[in-house]
Amino acid sequence: MLELTGFVREGRGEMMTKRKIAYFSMEIALDAGIQTYAGGLGILAGDTLRAGADMKLPVCAVTLLHRKGYFRQRLDDSGWQFEEEDPWEIEKYLTPMESRVKITLHGREVWVRSWQYEIEGVTGASIPVYLLDTDVEENSEWDRHLTDRLYLGDFYFRICQEAVLGLGGVRMLRALGHDELTRYHMNEGHSAFLGLELLDEEMIRRGMSKIDDEMLQAVRRKCVFTTHTPVPAGHDQFPLEMAREVLGHHEAFFKRRDLFEPVKCAADCLNMTYLALNLSHYVNGVAKSHAEVSRLMFADHEIDSITNGVHARTWVCPSMQSLFERWIPGWKLDSFNMRSALNIPDEDLWRAHQAAKGDLCNYIEKERGERFSLDVLTLGFARRATSYKRPKLLFENKEWLFEIARKAGGLQLVFAGKAHPGDEMGKFFIQDIVRMRDEFRERGIKIVYLENYDMALAQKLVSGVDVWLNTPLPPMEASGTSGMKAALNGVPSLSVLDGWWIEGRIEGVTGWGIESEGGDARSLYEKLEREIVPRYCERRGEFISVMRHAIALNGSFFNTQRMLLQYLERAYFL
Ligand SMILES: *Cc1c(COP(=O)(O)O)cnc(C)c1O
Repeated sequence: MLELTGFVREGRGEMMTKRKIAYFSMEIALDAGIQTYAGGLGILAGDTLRAGADMKLPVCAVTLLHRKGYFRQRLDDSGWQFEEEDPWEIEKYLTPMESRVKITLHGREVWVRSWQYEIEGVTGASIPVYLLDTDVEENSEWDRHLTDRLYLGDFYFRICQEAVLGLGGVRMLRALGHDELTRYHMNEGHSAFLGLELLDEEMIRRGMSKIDDEMLQAVRRKCVFTTHTPVPAGHDQFPLEMAREVLGHHEAFFKRRDLFEPVKCAADCLNMTYLALNLSHYVNGVAKSHAEVSRLMFADHEIDSITNGVHARTWVCPSMQSLFERWIPGWKLDSFNMRSALNIPDEDLWRAHQAAKGDLCNYIEKERGERFSLDVLTLGFARRATSYKRPKLLFENKEWLFEIARKAGGLQLVFAGKAHPGDEMGKFFIQDIVRMRDEFRERGIKIVYLENYDMALAQKLVSGVDVWLNTPLPPMEASGTSGMKAALNGVPSLSVLDGWWIEGRIEGVTGWGIESEGGDARSLYEKLEREIVPRYCERRGEFISVMRHAIALNGSFFNTQRMLLQYLERAYFL
């Protein structure tokens, strides 16, 4: 408790100078103009920090610079994806920091410098984010490119990048004078080498040359780990020999293989997830169901669940913002106020929604030359284009879909999402959907695939469609957050029961669930045909009531303010 009172007094008082919590993430979505993220993980990191700044929490954050971004997606006329580099104006957004630190990679000395970005909260408090950069003259040409691109490159490149993040990150925080940190939060396992650096510090402090339990406890007390991946293949691991070569001198660490090897598998590898699990006193999954799956994968570890959220101010579109200013006083400061959405009259809510839909229609016309109507039921689907997200589930029974469109007086489908450059299958999904355009137009269904899904486009999409569709193969979706953004904008989800939707769905009240009995596609069509289309077309008041409950019930809970309060209570103070 002592720790808690000190924290609140210093951390949330007038002069918030000393940072107590360091948040580490390979990607962070900081601003629509900065391409330092690939998808959900980075968006969550950004939303977490934005809420932290609103709440005046004494947090600082570390990530890599990703000078050339992830990639810009272009689609040719046939719908085939091309990738372009996506550099951004570093000097426009960031302040260069003087401090430099050095790490050793495979016997080479690599210098790391950093740039600072300030995340400003509604109350004027801010959170500094340090973006690490190895583009320093003293470094070899190869090392200078280590922090250029996100999630590209082979194992060797990745382990070097992760060493920069974990080892370089902790050293950089020390160099920048953050000497009162009591918690290190690993957002996914990429940053787990930070634990190795903390162990080294303990050994040096105690003048020891081996790792004992007391030291481990000291490090564990400081570390928190959030896992995001419900599939074993999604967890980073490196050949042990490579890890030894790259990390070099850590004899004591490499003697403790129990810290980083998967249980039951003597596969000579260093697994970043096991490292993070073993070095943290608190571990969580990002939704209740995801924590259950994680407990099965990592049976020897206690895994709690804190369901993800989104940052309200970031994702609510302009017309809804004006509406909330009127009906939900204080919504920017306190997301719990979203309950008051129940007071919003039908006409006002509908008008604000139609304004958002109008903005999306204009964007579609400008980008794709397709004219979308304000009065036709419009479904949105934006996901990384990859098999488990099942982008084509909606097309499994075309005749049924045509029949639904006929009853609804037409249908409009808006797609977006990048395929990972190495995922050919994902690229074919995009192309298949683009190629259906003409056949479908004749049967009353308009389809567009919008290029380059990013923060700015996401806000337009989640607010401008009428229903947000989500069809991943359970239990592959750890949480998902785009449906939460849609809910905040009064756009209900039609989604399989996985991730956050198991908790967020109240059938017919906050949206609709796709049930797997009898087949997911069948349930999808049934819900569209029997529940959604009749409400949208004939019983509009009932449809608007679902919109209103999506904001009031889901918006007030699935936000990063509630989420951070849970981290404070369970992870940061324990
Ligand atoms: C919110 C968001 C995501 C993550 O959404 P999911 O529901 O997890 O698919 C990915 N990319 C962008 C650009 C986003 O805004």
